[in-house]
Amino acid sequence: MRANTLLILDDEGDDAHIIATEAQSLGFEVRIFDDAKQFLAAFLEEEPSHLAIDILMPGVHGVELLHTLAQHQCQSAIILTSGIGTAALPAVQLAAIQYQLNIRGILHHPFHQHILRNMLSDQVSVDLHAHTGHDISTQSLIVDAETIEEAIRQHEFALYYQPQIDLVNGKVIGFEGLLRWHHPVMGVKLPELFIPVAEKTGHIDLLTQIVIETGFHFIRSLGNALSFSMNISPKSIQNQAFANTLVNACQASNLPPERVMLELTETATTEDPDKAQHALAKLREEGFKLSIDDFGNNNSSVSRLSNLPFTSLKIDKSLVTTMEISSKSRKVVASTLKLAESLNIETIAAGIENTMAAIGLRELGCRYGQGYYFARPMDQAATVHWLQHWNRQF
Ligand code: C2E
Ligand code: MG
Repeated sequence: MRANTLLILDDEGDDAHIIATEAQSLGFEVRIFDDAKQFLAAFLEEEPSHLAIDILMPGVHGVELLHTLAQHQCQSAIILTSGIGTAALPAVQLAAIQYQLNIRGILHHPFHQHILRNMLSDQVSVDLHAHTGHDISTQSLIVDAETIEEAIRQHEFALYYQPQIDLVNGKVIGFEGLLRWHHPVMGVKLPELFIPVAEKTGHIDLLTQIVIETGFHFIRSLGNALSFSMNISPKSIQNQAFANTLVNACQASNLPPERVMLELTETATTEDPDKAQHALAKLREEGFKLSIDDFGNNNSSVSRLSNLPFTSLKIDKSLVTTMEISSKSRKVVASTLKLAESLNIETIAAGIENTMAAIGLRELGCRYGQGYYFARPMDQAATVHWLQHWNRQF
């Protein structure tokens, strides 16, 4: 394979030239094709390190093209362009996993240069801001009790949804709800800016209430099968009334608690272990599913996990995004999966950004996954749209 060579297949030209310019600035040798046959011929001849393929080109069947590349034992890193809203995308994404192709990512239009640069480089990026495409403003924003209260009053908090996928059959099993703050001046703000503050000021329960009210109704509106995962602050679990709030909300929205997954980090169980154990047992009795979030990110405790009524474990994205380059991460993921299996609890991996991660996880026995490879967190309308496209393939 020839390092730093890129072949681009694109019929419209604009995206191809942007990609080519960026790649050339990184030292790549680049050739652009608007004909799939010529592209394949050049691929066979040149064995390039990278390919960028527009899967929406007229006359090109995305899945067939990937199949052909796989038959020729393609080792190139592949960037898929076009994509969002494309009916064929789910099939292409899953075929890539099945054919064991190294898809670095899907370039949605319009894209930031640093996203493309990450896909072209061999480095694995865990830069959250670079990936979300939001919150790149460098202006500072003061977040305190007053601003959060005002934002709640003005309905500036919105729930975004990220799908969770069965890695074996490609079906959507549910969505995780993730809060965003639509600031009128500063744009979309990520939870790291306001959740820690809301936990300190005591506003976290009001934010959780927004998640419950919007999330339960929305998931219910999507039918009878999908689950809803929500993040629970350690503070909320200590709150006696919390379980009742959840039960009442389930009744009001006609959503069985069995379809609600409560995601808790381990700190939720360490502050006051006895109280936490009691609260978790009560939530399980009511039927809620419980998941340990970010498992493996620092000092996850196996013994604690086995003593608490968790039904699922979510492998931290820092392990998943580095599995490809770090044998240590791979080993931790493998042993975590074995542990979960022995405790008879389900596993879901976070942070799946490309096919190599999905393939590796599936091989190690991880059944479910979520990450930018499938979809970024989306607002309600985009979620409905995305789900329709995804389901059309199955
Ligand atoms: P989390 O529960 O671990 O959520 C997953 C985070 O990973 C999300 O960041 C999501 O956008 C991001 N992510 C998803 N796929 C990928 C990927 O493929 N690669 C990478 N690098 N990142 C990916 P987000 O939305 O910024 O949320 C950050 C954290 O804020 C969440 O981490 C959660 O702990 C907290 N949070 C979000 N919403 C709520 C909420 O409603 N309540 C509470 N208490 N916490 C929340
Ligand atoms: Mg979570």
